[in-house]
Amino acid sequence: MYQRNVKPLITPFKKMTKYIGAHVSTSGGVENAPLNAKAIGATAFALFTKNQRQWVAKPLTRENISKFKKHCETAGYEPFQILPHDSYLINLGNPDKSALEKSRSAFLDEMQRCEQLGLDRLNFHPGSHLNKIGEEESMRLIAESINQVLDQTHGVITVIENTAGQGTNLGYTFEQIAYIIDLVKDKSRVGVCIDTCHAFTAGYDLKSREGFEETFSHFEHLIGFEFLKGMHLNDSKKELGTRVDRHDSLGKGFLGMDHFQWIMADSRFDGIPLVLETPDDSLWAEEISLLKSFVK
Ligand SMILES: [Zn+2]
Ligand SMILES: [Zn+2]
Repeated sequence: MYQRNVKPLITPFKKMTKYIGAHVSTSGGVENAPLNAKAIGATAFALFTKNQRQWVAKPLTRENISKFKKHCETAGYEPFQILPHDSYLINLGNPDKSALEKSRSAFLDEMQRCEQLGLDRLNFHPGSHLNKIGEEESMRLIAESINQVLDQTHGVITVIENTAGQGTNLGYTFEQIAYIIDLVKDKSRVGVCIDTCHAFTAGYDLKSREGFEETFSHFEHLIGFEFLKGMHLNDSKKELGTRVDRHDSLGKGFLGMDHFQWIMADSRFDGIPLVLETPDDSLWAEEISLLKSFVK
């Protein structure tokens, strides 16, 4: 039963509007992300809370944290509009024991940074089996990694991103994501982020209307939109099913513009951060206003 004084992690009434932004720079400190987002007309944004290509980072200072919160407040960003992304080095399905431990402690640090910043979700790539163990075994390690970090943190949802399936990356089918979610004990703190470029090169034909409908009814059936905690909106430099992860600017790649219009006109994508990870940041303001113009 819904208790008034307990803030639920799953918003009981999904906010009926679109929140659109980009993965913005934190150069000079995390507190600059909301300012950078505001400057391009974004109503959502993504960020790294530490350098994404390094294992160890300086802890956030009190000043970083208080300024970040203040800037979010003045620019009008609430936690559900913000989708932090973890480091690319982390592999929660790593078959090597010490490498797995290193990834798990780095992931815990990322979750704690989100807690400190008052954020409610952390987007991550599930992991890779590195051809040393099977896919299912690696996915069980990923689920166990999630369970461990959830035990040690509060209030932050782990958001699994679908991948293009490049190399030995897992999470390129909705079945794999559902398999991991099934093994997570606290279902209120696990979610999904769908990257349109990754879905397309993994073999989901978002380009045709039939393919788009089929993909998302498959998602609804296997996982459910209540788990959808964010989207990455990217065109693709590679064709359907190539399993290569190369983002392109909207309308410039093999995906084209249609499916972005369908997403913007579809209430199933309301109330979550919809984030560009397109390569040309000088186009972001334009891309955001174009997407806004598609909202009915
Ligand atoms: Zn992405
Ligand atoms: Zn990508």
